[in-house]
Amino acid sequence: MADKFDVIVIGGGPGGYVAAIRAAQLGLKTACIDSFTGKDGKPAPGGTCLNVGCIPSKALLDSSKHFYHLQHDYEAHGISTKDASIDVPTMIARKDGIVKKLTSGVTQLFKGNKVTYYHGKGNLSAGKQVEVTPVDGSGPIQLEADNVILASGSVSIQIPNVEMDDEYIVDNVGSLDFDTVPETLGVIGAGVIGLELGSVWNRLGAKVTLLEALPGFLAIADKDISKQAAREFKQQGLDIRLGTLVKGAELEDGQVTVTVEDKNGESALTFDRLLVSVGRKPYTEGLLSDDSGVQLTERGQIQVDEQSRSTAQGVWAIGDCVRGPMLAHKASEEGIAVAELIAGKPAHIHFDTVPWVVYTDPEIAWVGKTEQELKEAGMEYNVGSFPFAANGRALAGGQGTGLVKMLADAHSDEILGVHIFGASASELIAECVVAMEFQGSSEDLARIIHAHPTLSEAVHEAALHVERRAIHRGN
Ligand code: FAD
Ligand code: AMP
Repeated sequence: MADKFDVIVIGGGPGGYVAAIRAAQLGLKTACIDSFTGKDGKPAPGGTCLNVGCIPSKALLDSSKHFYHLQHDYEAHGISTKDASIDVPTMIARKDGIVKKLTSGVTQLFKGNKVTYYHGKGNLSAGKQVEVTPVDGSGPIQLEADNVILASGSVSIQIPNVEMDDEYIVDNVGSLDFDTVPETLGVIGAGVIGLELGSVWNRLGAKVTLLEALPGFLAIADKDISKQAAREFKQQGLDIRLGTLVKGAELEDGQVTVTVEDKNGESALTFDRLLVSVGRKPYTEGLLSDDSGVQLTERGQIQVDEQSRSTAQGVWAIGDCVRGPMLAHKASEEGIAVAELIAGKPAHIHFDTVPWVVYTDPEIAWVGKTEQELKEAGMEYNVGSFPFAANGRALAGGQGTGLVKMLADAHSDEILGVHIFGASASELIAECVVAMEFQGSSEDLARIIHAHPTLSEAVHEAALHVERRAIHRGN
């Protein structure tokens, strides 16, 4: 006899574990099945995000930022930092400790909310029957539910002729665990992950070369932002080669030779290590039996409607395995919405106000439309901007790089997009998301009191500048 649940969630990343907790909070008998095993061989719910994504990358970004600032900025404060050095195993152990704390925290949250957790691989078949194959090798467990939420996440895309060996040629997982700073690091793909992980090792002293096939830098961001960011990152030592297509890589005697094609034809580059960060694809291996009734799109995503319903009745899918941006907070919000829909509550996700962040230094963050998107759509808009170089708090903190740019409808003044390149952009963007959720105008933000001296005054001034009434810059 199969154990019966109201809700079974397959996948325990930020989509799945959050969905499971919310479903349990709503009084639904809930199970969550997740197969992730930590570096210590123990169950580690939390998915890509907690184990090999958002959190460990931010831990290393933080360590490497300290090291970089120590070497480049402390002297100006009168602080002597002669002979600073980095102990990579200590840095990695700190990161592992943070990951462990958070994955154990998810296990505790499951217990506290009475979510039944299975450390195993889940497979869905017709009639919302789910078979769990435990990681510990014990026999399969049969479960069934009224509703099943699929949250199986994503994995790195691999490219032809570049075979990963997880030591010299790696993806995000391997690059979070290097045991020394490589002298040279090649990074295929100058997207969000390539920039973040490339920055980590660049700040620690590696000579980092980013090989990007597209002719433009960070094409998904607003052009004014990506232009300034490219200039800044080059100054920090990142060698960003645009229009450079990687065609293959060979590992020989501990060196990786990469064949690239650019406007000058084919050539070879040699690195100590190579990071492949060319994007991620939905992961559904072993998830669905032939009779599950769940259909995939041609891109391999689980096909869902606006409210995350799959093609099988009572089966939902969320997070990286479905359409939309591959971001942890998007996955979590979908998880909450689905749990609430299952419990009979109204729920809705606004994809237009999902914030994006690139955790470089300075950070890049945005919400809503870019200027190029507005132009393409033929929209009439006004632009306001404000440089951090004119913000007192930024200057006091040595953070005068970057700007805030705001785009507002030319007729209604509704905010259509905000783009930030600067210190704490990841935090500053939250105010803009709230304003956009409330269909706020630039005038709304312009009339709100912002504490002085704060970086948020740059958002305020950019809002004022939309109608050319900024105080601390020319209009
Ligand atoms: P996942 O987190 O991938 O979780 C899916 C889980 O399901 C995994 O544990 C997997 O093992 C498990 N699973 C899969 N199939 C089965 C099965 N059949 N049975 C049982 N378990 C199964 N996003 C941000 O928003 N901010 C960031 O700063 C950020 N940084 C990132 C940095 C890196 C290096 C990477 C790689 C990603 C980053 N992301 C970031 C993206 C973020 O990690 C993902 O968007 C997020 O993890 C997606 O959540 P999810 O729940 O859909 O899937
Ligand atoms: P993201 O999806 O943000 O992680 O970005 C991945 C980046 O990798 C994109 O900008 C792609 O253009 C780039 N890319 C994909 N394949 C290749 C390749 N073979 N050589 C160089 N860059 C690539």
